[in-house]
Amino acid sequence: MSDFVVSVIPTDPRWQPAPEAADACADLLRALLYPEEPDPEVEIGWYDRVAIVHPHENLQHVTCPRCGREISDWFDGLAEEAEERQGLTELEATVPCCGARIPLTGLRHDWPCGFARFEIAAWNPERQPLSGADLTALGEALGHAVRQIEAHI
Ligand SMILES: [Zn+2]
Repeated sequence: MSDFVVSVIPTDPRWQPAPEAADACADLLRALLYPEEPDPEVEIGWYDRVAIVHPHENLQHVTCPRCGREISDWFDGLAEEAEERQGLTELEATVPCCGARIPLTGLRHDWPCGFARFEIAAWNPERQPLSGADLTALGEALGHAVRQIEAHI
């Protein structure tokens, strides 16, 4: 059985909120995504290092912004390594296609992929995706602009 996860993350990969703001944002996310469900599965994640918030099955292609070649296998390896090491040690990498130094946030993903030290993950929400107005309200609760990553696991 597959799961759908909507993760809300700050737009700045290194930024973390105050704990009260994180709780307020999680409460709002519950209200937005689970209007009927009394006990939804919403997890707050704090990471020492920047984690890759991976869309899993939704992400099919990763290409190099410099030379345009497909580097999906390389990115999958990077994501596995980051998971084993509990995060990324740096936000730049040397890509295998053309040897360029590329900020990871500049890679071309065919489905949004995130990089964050803070995440609120909503599992199998009753509705998705979040609207622009939802994201604005969540950002105000958190104290920083946010984006959503939709994963299919
Ligand atoms: Zn390249």
